[in-house]
Amino acid sequence: MKRKPLFLCIFIPYALALLLTLVVAGGWALRGAREEHYTQTRDNLRRAALMLADAMDRLPDPTDAAAVNALCQRKGQAAGYRFTVILNSGRVIGDTDEAPHVMDNHYLRPEIRQLHGEPPDAVGWSTRRSGTVRLNMMYVAVVWRHADERLGFIRAARPMGDVDLALIRQRTRIFYAGLWMGVIVIIGSAVIAARLSAPLTRMREQVEAYAAGHIDLRLPGSPIREIHTLSEAMNAMAQRLAERMQTIVRQRDEQNALLACMTEAVIALDGKGNVLSMNPAAAALFQPGGGAGVGRPIEEVVRNADIQRLHQTIMRSRETVSEELTIPNGERTLQVNGSPMLDSHGQRIGCVLVITDITRIRRLETMRRDFVANVSHELKTPITSISGFTETLLEGAADDPDARHRFLGIIQRQARRLTSILEDLLTLSRLEYNAQGNEIPRRLTALRPLLENAAKTWHTVAADKGMTLAIDCDPALQASIDAPLIEQAMINLIGNAVKYGPPKTGIAIGAERDETEIRLNVKDEGPGIARHHLTRLFERFYRIDKGRSRDMGGTGLGLAIVKSIAVAHGGRADVDSAPGKGSVFTIHLPPSESH
Ligand code: ADP
Repeated sequence: MKRKPLFLCIFIPYALALLLTLVVAGGWALRGAREEHYTQTRDNLRRAALMLADAMDRLPDPTDAAAVNALCQRKGQAAGYRFTVILNSGRVIGDTDEAPHVMDNHYLRPEIRQLHGEPPDAVGWSTRRSGTVRLNMMYVAVVWRHADERLGFIRAARPMGDVDLALIRQRTRIFYAGLWMGVIVIIGSAVIAARLSAPLTRMREQVEAYAAGHIDLRLPGSPIREIHTLSEAMNAMAQRLAERMQTIVRQRDEQNALLACMTEAVIALDGKGNVLSMNPAAAALFQPGGGAGVGRPIEEVVRNADIQRLHQTIMRSRETVSEELTIPNGERTLQVNGSPMLDSHGQRIGCVLVITDITRIRRLETMRRDFVANVSHELKTPITSISGFTETLLEGAADDPDARHRFLGIIQRQARRLTSILEDLLTLSRLEYNAQGNEIPRRLTALRPLLENAAKTWHTVAADKGMTLAIDCDPALQASIDAPLIEQAMINLIGNAVKYGPPKTGIAIGAERDETEIRLNVKDEGPGIARHHLTRLFERFYRIDKGRSRDMGGTGLGLAIVKSIAVAHGGRADVDSAPGKGSVFTIHLPPSESH
């Protein structure tokens, strides 16, 4: 559809209305003026014809053609008219301008014909171009009577040139008046169009500004009532729009904040499986490189066939679907919950996936199960032994002093073993309690006496094996620690070195400090540890050689306790060892622990 500017919409109807008015009114006025002029001229000519009839009546012989012609010439020149006297037969006997004998028969001239058979006071008239004088003329004829006898017709005529000229002037005046009015209409409609279109243009600009997001702009009032009402309606609409946008922005911010702080990965997908949004947890899980996910299909974002299959299931279902999946990269266990996303009419428009990384929970569960199994197993061995030997004693072995002594010795050893396992477990559980944010009590402690005390515990056993314990520590070196715990850790490490080190070897116990940490270490010249054991050595009940450990009175918890003590101090424990090269166990404490 072709759209016209407002100016033309206003101007064209105005101009057409004006033109129509001018044509109708001008034509009407011209017609009236012309009629007026013609009527007046006709009257004048009729009166002149009657006056000539009077003059002819006074002639001695009104039928004397020469006298009539002379009268016509005299009167005609005096009045400025052309008089013609015509007999009933149509023959001209007198004329102001022409010699009568050269003139045609006038019987059939329209103004004469109109009088044929008419009463004596009838008037005939006609306007035409005269063949004789070659001018546009008006002819008016009356009946010529003398002594009640119709002798013929008297005709008066005059050229209509001046009348027509007056009419032409009139028409020109009307034309110019129309022209002026046209100019006024153009200017007027331009002013009106500008007054109407300016606020409309402002409104258009305003709406464009709203579309560009400048919703706080408002339209000024207008003296035109309709435009003012429209402006007010638009301002009210903008106000409501601004409020609604504020609400939407606030809701979006709340939603983003909520999604951002969730540990669960949340992905919203449209009906075609393209990602509508994903929270930071989802990006971290599926786009660790930081690639853009929004707008891309799920197959590209989540490269896991199980999740893609689950997505298909959710898109077919109206219920929430839950499944636990294992994804191979990094052996992660994921709990995936998916719900269809419905619009207000209940139509499916996509779905939402909530993915929880339950790897840690599952790992902890496994650890707890293994731990319970290990504890049960470790406790079962001494208990079985105690109950077995007690039974044997009750069944009569108690009567044999040798057997009784031997069996009671075994029962005592197993009871001690039970005690040490339980003590180690209690220590571990206390340390775990500390690890859950409960601070351990610390005091600034000199490290050398602490190492000496720990070494002293194993002095006799080491001496029995011909082993030497050497301590290398600056007496001034201090650390802010829970001294009994660190001493316990060192006792465990020195104990292992003594237990697993071959006789007549040396054990070096040391403490040192640098800019970043304090290190406490125990170095032995023992068998060393194969590489594949190193990562698991600090786990509870992990032993390289179960039989040997038990024979040595080990519980399999010693290194786990060392690790927990280091962690409770905000540090860590590690080992550096290779088969045949001895081992170095180190506790690293953060420098904040030192003073
Ligand atoms: P255990 O009570 O069995 O000694 P630990 O947790 O203290 O338990 O040690 C775990 C295992 O690590 C031990 O069974 C032993 O095989 C190995 N181990 C610990 N210390 C040493 C060491 N200094 N040299 C060689 N092997 C060691």
